[in-house]
Amino acid sequence: MIVSKLKEALICLKAGRVTLPYPFAPREPEEGFRGRVVVDAEKCVGCGGCAAVCPPRCIEIRDPSPDRRVLQFFLERCTYCARCVEVCPEEAVTVSKEFETATNARDDMHVRVEVFMSTCRRCGRCYEPPTPLDRLIVTGMRPPADEDGGH
Ligand code: SF4
Ligand code: SF4
Repeated sequence: MIVSKLKEALICLKAGRVTLPYPFAPREPEEGFRGRVVVDAEKCVGCGGCAAVCPPRCIEIRDPSPDRRVLQFFLERCTYCARCVEVCPEEAVTVSKEFETATNARDDMHVRVEVFMSTCRRCGRCYEPPTPLDRLIVTGMRPPADEDGGH
């Protein structure tokens, strides 16, 4: 009995340390890790693509005035799926490597982005500036008249 226990102890000691020292030492996540979502307000054009595909509906869009669009990310509901990153035409949303997001204050997990939309000089209504999505060529569709010589 004692011999077998000693053998076991020897095997365990030979293996060396197999656990990581985290949280006593920092832990760098692997490549491709999807952590907290980061939004670059400078790049966002307010197209709403991210909100349309977010599975837990944690991105809310409001238009408080004709020329202002407000995006609110309620990241306490985020599932870290990165769908918003995939669809954003301006690469305004990215995932960071931050994973220590536990907090007592829910506001820490809220991100607010305000986008000033362009307004038409004639009617005053807002419209979205052209994005890469608008420039996609749809198979089977005619190009706009000005691109095909006005025909
Ligand atoms: S990572 Fe997924 S759940 Fe989180 S905000 Fe983006 S689309 Fe929504
Ligand atoms: S998909 Fe990108 S550009 Fe469009 S509203 Fe979301 S963050 Fe802004």
